[in-house]
Amino acid sequence: MNKIKSNNFKGIVVALKANFLIVEIDSQVFTQDDLKKCSEKLRLLCTRRSKLDYQGLFIDVGDVVFVESIDYTNKRAVIVDVEPRKSFLKRPAIANVTLVAICISVEEPLLDIDQTSRFLITAECANIKPLIVLTKIDLINKCDLNFYINKFKLWGYDSLAVSIKNVQGINLLIERFRKTKLTVLAGPSGVGKTSLINHLIPTLSLPTSNVSKKLKRGTHTTRHVELFAIGHGSLLADTPGFNRPEIVCEPSGFASLFPEFRSKLTNSQCKFRNCLHRDEPGCVINKDLERYSFYRENLEEIIN
Ligand code: GDP
Ligand code: ZN
Repeated sequence: MNKIKSNNFKGIVVALKANFLIVEIDSQVFTQDDLKKCSEKLRLLCTRRSKLDYQGLFIDVGDVVFVESIDYTNKRAVIVDVEPRKSFLKRPAIANVTLVAICISVEEPLLDIDQTSRFLITAECANIKPLIVLTKIDLINKCDLNFYINKFKLWGYDSLAVSIKNVQGINLLIERFRKTKLTVLAGPSGVGKTSLINHLIPTLSLPTSNVSKKLKRGTHTTRHVELFAIGHGSLLADTPGFNRPEIVCEPSGFASLFPEFRSKLTNSQCKFRNCLHRDEPGCVINKDLERYSFYRENLEEIIN
């Protein structure tokens, strides 16, 4: 890490724009004179010092950076250093994510259990805590909703149930996001991620997509990643909907991405150290676990 001079300011990359990076700086760090020139949060269009490229330091949305040479009139600056990342989500590329809120609609499109698992595995792979957000709960009855909530509980996950239409569960969700530094909304297209962001941050008015009546699937809308402020010091990112996130991991580490397998593996050991929990003798993984068949199918895919 380079020495940080007193005229450097710390900020967070909130978006990438062509060859530029948009960095948000908390203006509480500015001197009185500087403050007169800007509002509470300052967003600067930044370039990066070429020496950062030589050092191989890539910068993505979510990275904590130091800027200098601030031009307050034109809102420009230069990034001179970047802090080591605490986590990194690969697709979409976002650094320092602390919570992945996986949005899954109970209906329209119908909840797909394996797809939900794939999203959970993606977060587990990046070592980021996932939260399941069940959306469009106005479309099912309480009994069916509890079925899903209990299922995810057995897998080892918390879920929050929301409806934009009936304004249900939204306050709990806001509370959760405001307690979190950087939340990423993930999930397939059409589940209501954009509607949720628009509801939480009404000033944004992002365009939503229509769920095709025939396919009951969302149409794909691509947007670049941007971080939005939600409460003081908390950020929220929308991501383009991926319908089938790819599982990339070592076969030997795959089982530990399932909390219900993980708890078994921490309490007891399989007979063989390199056990892949298939049909090995002395394996401690219970083949009756609900996600075991999903594990087996995807393990074969990872191996091949
Ligand atoms: P995204 O692709 O995940 O960003 O989904 P959108 O926010 O674009 O929403 C897709 C469709 O679902 C839109 O037609 C929304 O009006 C609809 N939708 C969003 N939230 C709800 C909800 O809580 N209930 C119902 N019934 N429909 C919703
Ligand atoms: Zn085993």
